[in-house]
Formats: sequence, C-alpha cells, structure tokens
Amino acid sequence: MERKVRVRFAPSPTGPLHIGGVRTALYNYLFAKKHGGDFILRIEDTDQTRLVQGAENYIIESLKWCGLTFDEGVGVGGSCEPYRQSERNKLGIYKKYVDQLLKSGHAYYAFDTPEELEAMRERLKAAGGSSQQYDSSTRNSMKNSLTLPAEEVNKKIAAGEPYVVRVKIPRNEEVKFKDIIRGRVVVDSANLDDKVLFKSDGMPTYHMANVVDDYLMKITHVIRGEEWLPSGPLHVLLYRFLGWEDVMPEFAHLPLILKPDGNGKLSKRDGDRLGFPVFPIEWTAPDGELFAGYREGGYFSEAMINMLALLGWNPGTEQEIFSMSELIEAFSLDKVGKSGSKFDPEKTKWFNENYLRAKSNEELAQLIKPIVEKHGYCVPNEQLLSAVCNLMKERATFLNDIIEKGTYFFEAPTTYDAETVKKKWKENSAQIIAELVTIFSTTEFNAVTLEEAFKKYIEEKGFGFGVAMTPIRLAITGVGGGPHLFDIMEVIGKEESINRLKSGVENINK
Ligand code: GLU
Repeated sequence: MERKVRVRFAPSPTGPLHIGGVRTALYNYLFAKKHGGDFILRIEDTDQTRLVQGAENYIIESLKWCGLTFDEGVGVGGSCEPYRQSERNKLGIYKKYVDQLLKSGHAYYAFDTPEELEAMRERLKAAGGSSQQYDSSTRNSMKNSLTLPAEEVNKKIAAGEPYVVRVKIPRNEEVKFKDIIRGRVVVDSANLDDKVLFKSDGMPTYHMANVVDDYLMKITHVIRGEEWLPSGPLHVLLYRFLGWEDVMPEFAHLPLILKPDGNGKLSKRDGDRLGFPVFPIEWTAPDGELFAGYREGGYFSEAMINMLALLGWNPGTEQEIFSMSELIEAFSLDKVGKSGSKFDPEKTKWFNENYLRAKSNEELAQLIKPIVEKHGYCVPNEQLLSAVCNLMKERATFLNDIIEKGTYFFEAPTTYDAETVKKKWKENSAQIIAELVTIFSTTEFNAVTLEEAFKKYIEEKGFGFGVAMTPIRLAITGVGGGPHLFDIMEVIGKEESINRLKSGVENINK
C-alpha cells in the first residue's frame, strides 16, 4: 500500500541550528510538500546532559523565520508545539520496546562500571587489537545478563544498581540498506558495537528513541546529515529486531556543507573568521558569546532559503532564482549530489540583491521604515520613501544599504568626499553653483525640468557636463557618485536642495 509521505526534522537542542541543519530541515520540508505529505518537528532531547539553554526556542524561531512550518505536533491549531522525546518518554513509549528487545534476546542488561569499561579498553589495546569496543567478541568477558546468572541480574536490578541496556549485534553479518543519495550501503556487523539503548535513569538513547519514534510517527523517509550514516546499519537492525522491516523508512543522507575553500566542514567559527553568518538568526551562547545571524545581517529569509536549496541540490536547469513554491515543484532527492558543496558567501549576497530588486518600491519602503528610525532619521512620507527605494535598490545588497549608501536622502551632507573635491572642485565651481541656485530657484522642481534648465545653462556657458555636474552633486550629496542627480533633487525637494547648494558654496574646499 502506498503510504502517505511523512518526514521529520529531528534536531537535538544541544546548540543553535547551523545553516547545515536549516538545509536538512528545508530538504525535508520540500520533499514533504512536493509529495503532499507531512513535515514533522521532533525535538530529540533525551540526553539531558547535553541540553543547552535556549536552543529549542532558537530552533523553533529559526524555522519560523525561514517559513518552514511543521504540520504536526503536540496540541492543536496555532498553539501546536513540536514533539519532544523527553515528554514522550514519560508516557513509557520507549521502555516498552526496550523490554520487547530484552525479551526477544536482541538486547541485554550490562552492569559494567566506567572503571571496568576502561580496563577492558586498556586490555584490548595492550593485546594490540584494532578496536576496543563492547561487541560480540568482548561482551562475553563483561558483566552483563549474558554472562551472569539470571538471579544475580534480577538481584542487581532490584537493588537499584545502575545498568544500561545494550543491543546485541549479531557476529558476522552483512547489514545492507539502500540510501537514496549514496546508493547501496553494506556494512559488516563485526564493525558495529553493542550500542547502549537505554539507561537505568529511565532515559532511552538517541538510537532507541529515534527508531521508535520514526516507527510510531509513520515516517516514510529519513532525510538527515551525512554524519548519521554510520548509525544507519544499527537503525536497520533495530527495525528488523522489532519486527518493523516492512515499514522501515527509506534513508537519504545529505552531503556536508564545506568551508568556502573546500577545506573541511563549515563550522560555527568560520562565520566570524571569514565575515559571514553561519546561523539563520543571531545566537547568544549561554556564556554570552554572540554569533551573527542572517536575519540580523539584513538578509531576506527567501534569499537564504534559495541559496541553501541550491547548496547540494541541482535543479538540472539554469534557473537559480526559486520561490518556495517553485522549489517545492522542482525538488527531488535524486538530484542531490553525493559530494560536499562549498559555501559561497558572495553568491549568498547575490541572491539577496536579486530578492531586494524584485520587491516593489512600496514594499521596500515599508521594510526600511524601522531601519530609517533606527538610524535616528525621521521617516519621510511613504511616497518619498518609495522614491528613495526606487533610486537606491540597484545599488543595494541589503536593506540597510538603501539608507547607509543614501544618507543624503535623509540628511544634508556634513562632510564632502575629499578625493572628489581634490579632483573635481575647480576655481569656478562655487560660481557655477551660485548661478545654478538662481536658475533652479525659478525652475519647476522635477527631474526633467531641472535637467533641461541645467543643460541650457551649460550650453550657454560652453561647459562640459562634468564641470558643472560634479560640484552640484558634491553639494547635494557630499559624494562623487550615486543615482541620477536630478532625481535626488526632486526627492529631497526645492528648499532642501537650494539650501544644500548654498552651504556647498560656503563650505566646500575651505
Ligand atoms: N537528533 C539527531 C540530530 O541531532 C537526529 C538525527 C536524525 O535525523 O536521525 O541531528
């Protein structure tokens, strides 16, 4: 029977979500939506010693900002919370299946103390063995329910002695599964160890809780990072031991995101080192260290998502700009490559520029309002703000640039670019401005009429364009470049323009 596609993003709240994690969530989301399926968020928080304060909220907020809404969780409607394994554990969900494995002989109790485990490793090392793991070749010399008499095992448990439950990995067996991205994976079970599934503190480990939840949540495809590939064979065995082989999900292990120079995995420190965000939103670590985020850096989430989608997935066409619905339409796991993809900060900026330019002036005006305020300027009316956006959007990568590269729309220049003054300010520049002030004072104040009046003036005087233009530009904006000058003058208005020209005459070159 065709099962409804159900996928999950299953982060452990041991820290903030790096963009690699966001990409895993994105590919799960796209795959689910493409197939009309469900995208589930499951917080894997069974290892209480590794929990980091604030990480869960961070994950939820990041996914929200990215538009990756999950379809199902605890509670209903708008107040839906993600599944949390720590809460599910209280319902005895995992213990039940651990007991089943113990009963069927696929798991056993082990009572070895940390010192005894260490001694075992030392012994094996001294004997020159290549591995020092708890497995089919060592378990018989350890303190567990396979070596101890049943009464003793029961006595230890009744006395509250700490124990773990370990999976009993078969000796020499090929464990096989198909990975959608990597093809056939075959592992000799001799290389697997008897991993801990459950501890006497009542907590399952990642492997146990992960497999049980994937089964109970009817997950059809496990799409996760490559670092989990080595866990695949154990999970396949657990499916078999629990009698769930017929509903085992398909696996897709995603390749790594690499540093820009291709030298190793992109790490959380690379962002600060190389000057780009590695996290979707800003993260303050419990020790107070601050990590930059895309959101705070002025990126549009759509641009970040678009960039991440193409970091590992190839649409097979030349198209680069994709909306979320276009991504859903085009996405397929078989176009995800096997090798790692180099992160490209410049390309990420390119995406942002594209998204910025595609927005209407009106939308941009709404978006920059708070930034204008933050810069301490008073917010001009919407029509003027839209006009500013119209003139600046071709020159901006981030929303901030509209204001920071166009400060002259919001305040008169207080300094004049020294380089331009040195090169372009001539003996007659003040004279030219003064004459143009007289002309502009009686000209209808729009870009077209201003330009006509200006051209008439230079023709009469026999001046080249630049000779007259650069001094006015300097006086109006303080800098040598920018959008069409008469457009700027129209936006800032007659009074302001005339005032600036007059102060230019007074202040430039003094
Ligand atoms: N909890 C694991 C993690 O933190 C999930 C791995 C998986 O998706 O199975 O990434």
